Amino acid sequence: MSNDDEEEVGYGNTHRAFLQALLSRQTITYEDAKPLLAAIQTAAIPDRPTLPEDISYQDFDNYVHTLNSSISPFDFEIRSTLHQTTKECIYALVNTTSDALTQMATVHSADEIAFVKRVLDAMFDTHNTQRAEVMAVTSMQALKLAKPPNDGSRRESGTQAHAQAGLTMSQAEKTLENMVREGWFELSTRGFYTLSPRGLMELRGWLMDTYNDQPPDEGDDDEYEEPTEKIKLCRACKEIVTMGQRCPNMECLARLHNHCVRNMFRAQGGSEKCPMCKTDWVEPPPVGEKAAKAGRTSTNANGVGGRRRTSGMGMDGADDESDD
Ligand SMILES: [Zn+2]
Ligand SMILES: [Zn+2]
Repeated sequence: MSNDDEEEVGYGNTHRAFLQALLSRQTITYEDAKPLLAAIQTAAIPDRPTLPEDISYQDFDNYVHTLNSSISPFDFEIRSTLHQTTKECIYALVNTTSDALTQMATVHSADEIAFVKRVLDAMFDTHNTQRAEVMAVTSMQALKLAKPPNDGSRRESGTQAHAQAGLTMSQAEKTLENMVREGWFELSTRGFYTLSPRGLMELRGWLMDTYNDQPPDEGDDDEYEEPTEKIKLCRACKEIVTMGQRCPNMECLARLHNHCVRNMFRAQGGSEKCPMCKTDWVEPPPVGEKAAKAGRTSTNANGVGGRRRTSGMGMDGADDESDD
């Protein structure tokens, strides 16, 4: 329908306005984009108002394509991924060169970034074991990381502790809130923090570099080694799985998103077996917060001898701060 318009010409005011909207909201779905683009087009051509229903998927896709060719010289790209639980297609403006942690550094203090890294370690290392791939942390678990662990090993080179002072409880709480608000984390109804689709898109390379060992040489797997692949990709769509299913064979590294299982089986000609080890894909254990219950142990990460009371989250009388 939009035949004689500026649409085909290329980047224009409407694209600029759409980019502005994306910048301010981090992610968008096609459904969210419809009223937005309708308003933008109506503002551009008031004589001929556009209704949200007038915005077809093709229109939306054209916007994304046009924007992508305009912003790629600036190392930005609009990428899409399926949300692992809602299955919505999420579009996000992604910086293609710097990782998300570098970007966060522009609006967060070094102590906040260090805290976020500790939370990511908790998600992708501490709470991501062969027994239980939770890949999420409760706010209680996250807030315990407000201060860096004092292992004393940093003392040697005479560096003062000022660089790793950590955060107070309320600063840590605020930082978690901001991470959700800025679109990096999501907070589930059960109170688990996970990396958002946008966070996963932006941090993909960093996560793999940080938590996975170098891939072993293909071919010789005579001796099975301890799996060191903490970040695993869906065997069907090749995106990171932080919520989904794992092969019933606990040694196997095959993972699938819930919404990708059917595609995988179809691609295998209907065979409902693991694509890697051929185990029957029956009652696959969960990946994600559901694994927290299944693999729950009574141990706490920092096995301090004395049991600490966890009720005093207010920390008002924390006397270890009062040096003077
Ligand atoms: Zn998948
Ligand atoms: Zn398997």
